[in-house]
Amino acid sequence: MQTLIQSVLTLQNGTLEAVDVLLMGDRIHTVAPAHTLPVAAHQRLIDGSDRLLLPGFVNGHTHSSQVWQRGLIPQLPLELWLANVFESTPRQLEQFYWGAVSTAVDTLLSGGTCVMDHAYVIPGQEMETVEALVRGYKAVGIRAVIAPLIQDLPFASGFPQGCLLPQGASPRSAVALLGMMADIVTTFHDPANGIYIGVGPTGFHRCSDQLLAGCQELSDRHHLCYHTHLLETRAQHRLAQESYGISAVQHLHNLGCLTPRTSVAHGVWIDEGDIQILAEAGATLVHNPVSNLRLGSGLAPILRCRQRGLNVSFGCDGAASNDAQNLLEAIKLGTILHRVADDDYDHWLTPEQTLQMATAGGARGVNLADRTGTLAPGMAADLVLYNLNHPSMLPRNHPLQLLVLGRPTDVVETVWVNGKTIVDQGQVQTIDVNALHHILARSVGAQGNQQTQHHPVEPHYRQVMIHGPGEGR
Ligand SMILES: [Zn+2]
Repeated sequence: MQTLIQSVLTLQNGTLEAVDVLLMGDRIHTVAPAHTLPVAAHQRLIDGSDRLLLPGFVNGHTHSSQVWQRGLIPQLPLELWLANVFESTPRQLEQFYWGAVSTAVDTLLSGGTCVMDHAYVIPGQEMETVEALVRGYKAVGIRAVIAPLIQDLPFASGFPQGCLLPQGASPRSAVALLGMMADIVTTFHDPANGIYIGVGPTGFHRCSDQLLAGCQELSDRHHLCYHTHLLETRAQHRLAQESYGISAVQHLHNLGCLTPRTSVAHGVWIDEGDIQILAEAGATLVHNPVSNLRLGSGLAPILRCRQRGLNVSFGCDGAASNDAQNLLEAIKLGTILHRVADDDYDHWLTPEQTLQMATAGGARGVNLADRTGTLAPGMAADLVLYNLNHPSMLPRNHPLQLLVLGRPTDVVETVWVNGKTIVDQGQVQTIDVNALHHILARSVGAQGNQQTQHHPVEPHYRQVMIHGPGEGR
């Protein structure tokens, strides 16, 4: 199967150029100046005029099952928000299947071809949950990395001075969790079919050193992405000081957990030394600007990360802390948000830079830089064709600037993943999207089950984080 996309605009070496692109099988075969590739009879020919072709974005951090909690959780900071999320988390395997389908669809229709699902898994049904997620992603045909969330410390351990809280039931031991992860890798890691397993310890705040280091051994043994939450909130920053007396980043580095296969979500509270350690390790920081604002977590020091050479990519984070899964929205915010942190406009991110972060940077963050994220011969044909005639992309001043800084809607026309057409004429081809919407519409349980603002951990949180001694960065 060959597809020739003729004379299409793309971003090459930082600037817009018109090119011909030949797709052959699952790969990009040729990229050449516009109107230079011959047309063969057996090719599908796509007129690229008034179109923009980009490598697919990578949604570098999300939690697919939170689709069911979209618009549900009250306006709370992470630690209290999380208590609500745990209580309303889905329990049915089919909800996980549809959560993956919904996340995949939203990713595709906002320019993504790959998703990192830092996946909640049902305790006691971990294999079945991953199976449901794999089934969902394969049904849609998106490239997916599934990193099951694992933790061996109780919920209360994630709070500073958490020992004052009643301890919940202890999760499974590090040994048991690592054994389970080994089984999940053996059963589901399937790069040939675009499904990858990552190791996803929840974060240092709920994981023992044994678990954090054990995950690294698994990552080394199977060449897996190592994905974890890191210093999302001021509370976590305080907790690290309490627990280790050194920064959480230094601690992870001492455990050997920072390598080029590592991606850390958030990093809102990392400092200059942390940035240097992460950059030297070749790790990736996944920036989730919508979530960080929704939860009031803070502004990640993205400009300084980039200046220090740290790879930065974008994530939506789960729909419980974003209430949508729109990559273009995350990229827009990530592009303009950090201007308020630096008066020197020479440092401000440009649309060209953030598109690079979302594509090649994103691919690196999920350990797939040799496979996806770049429009070049030999790379997987993971591509998105945008319609520049859509009213939200007019007038035709600067397509990249409008795509990133505007509010593009329904502009994704065609999406290929591994050379297969997954979206055509703006419609997902592989699954029945109406069935998905029907299933979501039937979920009315949440309305009769309004989440309370007040949770047993709230007095402790207020005492420690609101009324306690102030502590800056
Ligand atoms: Zn997250």
